[in-house]
Amino acid sequence: MEALDRTKLLRHTSEEIREREALTINPAKTCQPIGAMYAALGVHGCLPHSHGSQGCCAYHRSALTRHYKEPVMAASSSFTEGASVFGGQANLIQAIDNIFTVYNPDVIAVHTTCLSETIGDDIPQIISKAESEGKIPKGKRVFHANTPSYVGSHVTGFANMTKAMVDYFARSTGNTKDQLNIIPGWVEPSDMEEIKRLTDLFGVTSILFPDTSGVLNGPQTGKFRMHPKGGVTLEELQTTGDSFGTIAMGPLTSGPAAHSLDTRCKVPFEILDLPIGLKAVDRFIDSLRGMTGINVPDAIENERGQLMDMITDMHQYFYNKKAALVGDPDQLVSLSEFLVSIDMWPVHVVTGTSGKAFERKILEITSESPYKVNVKAGGDMFLFHQWIKNDPVDLIIGNSYVKYIARDEDIPFVRHGFPILDRVGHSYFTTVGYRGGMRLLEKILNALMDRQDRDASVRNFELVM
Ligand code: SF4
Repeated sequence: MEALDRTKLLRHTSEEIREREALTINPAKTCQPIGAMYAALGVHGCLPHSHGSQGCCAYHRSALTRHYKEPVMAASSSFTEGASVFGGQANLIQAIDNIFTVYNPDVIAVHTTCLSETIGDDIPQIISKAESEGKIPKGKRVFHANTPSYVGSHVTGFANMTKAMVDYFARSTGNTKDQLNIIPGWVEPSDMEEIKRLTDLFGVTSILFPDTSGVLNGPQTGKFRMHPKGGVTLEELQTTGDSFGTIAMGPLTSGPAAHSLDTRCKVPFEILDLPIGLKAVDRFIDSLRGMTGINVPDAIENERGQLMDMITDMHQYFYNKKAALVGDPDQLVSLSEFLVSIDMWPVHVVTGTSGKAFERKILEITSESPYKVNVKAGGDMFLFHQWIKNDPVDLIIGNSYVKYIARDEDIPFVRHGFPILDRVGHSYFTTVGYRGGMRLLEKILNALMDRQDRDASVRNFELVM
């Protein structure tokens, strides 16, 4: 047997790939409630509540806190042995009473956990019991999403909680308002800000939900605010049923909410990819133009031109480079399309979230690739690493967990996605829109050009690149 290289952190990852069905090694996803908690934080004055044990809630909070470097508030039903056997109704009713008494949020967003789902707690029934017992003060609301973590992933949890916002709050009065719903999907608070800025440039009134800008990327003021300024309000959510249309970005994370708005309130919708890169942003801008009947503002055309200029100027560094991507489906679809549009080729693409449609989409996007393309939905980091070992790439894009693979294989690495635990910037600098595309290009170029500098001989070490 070959000796293990002790300088490598993942030295047990073998090149030989064996078919695995029941075993996941280093998952490329986290659990549903994390996404549900993130979405709930995008409602103003909302306290997320984890209906399960304290351990789950502590994990969900710490995952978000580490990614955003902000204190993430959430409550827990604090299951013990009794609740695990007899159900969590008493715990949840007590929790609702305590939360409104002590923390006074406008709304509580309850999500379930593996344990409460296995018990089969009927959350709507518990919420109406709390209401009938007078535990929910007048004007306050409690809503919920089922987020069993043995199916789906954090993005499914985000989608479920976003849909719950529609199911609980959207109402149609029959009078259409001159406003547009924007469902941004799982993107960073900075990205939500950028989507609002682009929509504002069109001069259209919009309701963006969920909206974590101003919640998880707020300023340091020296004062702790239990409920930060940002977030979509309950009043705004209620009027989404009267909007003239909905643009939902990310079929997986925003599609269910858009469909529900149409079914319940007859609000027509368009489902687009996340506006990352060039073509996907073009489609978003064109959709805004089509839905509002307003010509594309000069400022946006200018930003597009700047992105095009950057791509043209630096094309030689992207051309025919191979990339490996790991992350969430909606993100990876747009990222792959962006890379292909600048003549880079995704050759290994892994998401931890299952779904054959994702695999078909990536293969379609990369259909003209000169290289063989590996794609797996429901895959893991171990397989991702094995693919890279067998067919090395020029660049890896993924979350912080990828740093182990990047170090062992000595491959340039760009952090993108969730979670990012060892760098900052994602909360403040967008990667959506044309400006976001420029930032992504800058990050990719920095990684590739730093490598070129590092590896250049004395003779080939260039000042001007
Ligand atoms: S038990 Fe389920 S809900 Fe709780 S942390 Fe684990 S996967 Fe998430």
